[in-house]
Amino acid sequence: MDKIIIRGLTVTACHGVHGYEKITPQKFVFDCDLYKDLSVAGQTDDLNDTVNYSAVCNAIAGLTANNTFNLIEKLAYESAYKILESFPVLKVGVTVCKPEAPVMHSFGTVGVTVEAEWTTCFLSLGSSVGDKKSYLDRAIEKLEKTRGIRVEKVSSHIETEPYGGVAKNRFLNCAVKIKTYLTPRKLLAEINRIEAECERVRQKRWDDRTLDIDIIFYGNEIINDDNLTVPHREYQMRDFVLIPLKEIAPDFVCPLKKCRISEL
Ligand code: ATP
Ligand code: CA
Ligand code: CA
Repeated sequence: MDKIIIRGLTVTACHGVHGYEKITPQKFVFDCDLYKDLSVAGQTDDLNDTVNYSAVCNAIAGLTANNTFNLIEKLAYESAYKILESFPVLKVGVTVCKPEAPVMHSFGTVGVTVEAEWTTCFLSLGSSVGDKKSYLDRAIEKLEKTRGIRVEKVSSHIETEPYGGVAKNRFLNCAVKIKTYLTPRKLLAEINRIEAECERVRQKRWDDRTLDIDIIFYGNEIINDDNLTVPHREYQMRDFVLIPLKEIAPDFVCPLKKCRISEL
């Protein structure tokens, strides 16, 4: 993919685990790779079609000078997130070097490199207790307010019969398209937090609940660990997932089934 590069951006600031580093400024040197399709700007010759690297440098310099972190890992990730949040960039790589770090040897530099990127994900939401519509609305509002998540599309709400023979009530369901730079586990943690804030009590699987949020797809990733299975293990057998999903993502290709959602 095309990219914009920034090399050797140097900011004097106070970051480090030692007390004196928090009050004595030293040099931090940034190298950044901003991934973006530049073909439009290549044709139009218009600054509005690309990313202003001077504005990116200002954003990084401001963040670096106005905060004090222990670790350059934190500084690097905060810089990466700031770039993704503030500029139309799909993916970013940030290297932060600390050439004056307190190391009792002759050395060139020390540093870290991190990467972050927006990933498109699809979530399935359901509620079967209380004011179901308001639980779904609150969940979407909370998703939108979560740092690292942007809500891009919400499907119509549909009323469905309970699934799995446990719950008694009818459900209200919808699907939501988000983009996120959170890792899958961090996204799951945020979803669990939002469920708890919406009075979700964890009882039996498939039981009635104020709010359930499942991750159906996380980009094209296939994940199988103790706490997370993505694509969701039974999504293609559930109309209450598929019907809203077909509305907002007919052309998304399931990384497991290798077919479009509209064909399921
Ligand atoms: P189902 O997952 O079959 O729809 P459920 O939604 O009723 O059942 P929960 O009690 O909400 O199940 O979740 C149980 C656990 O499932 C969660 O704590 C979570 O760790 C795990 N889990 C695994 N894969 C996913 C996923 N893709 N999305 C959300 N949770 C998942
Ligand atoms: Ca579920
Ligand atoms: Ca769930």
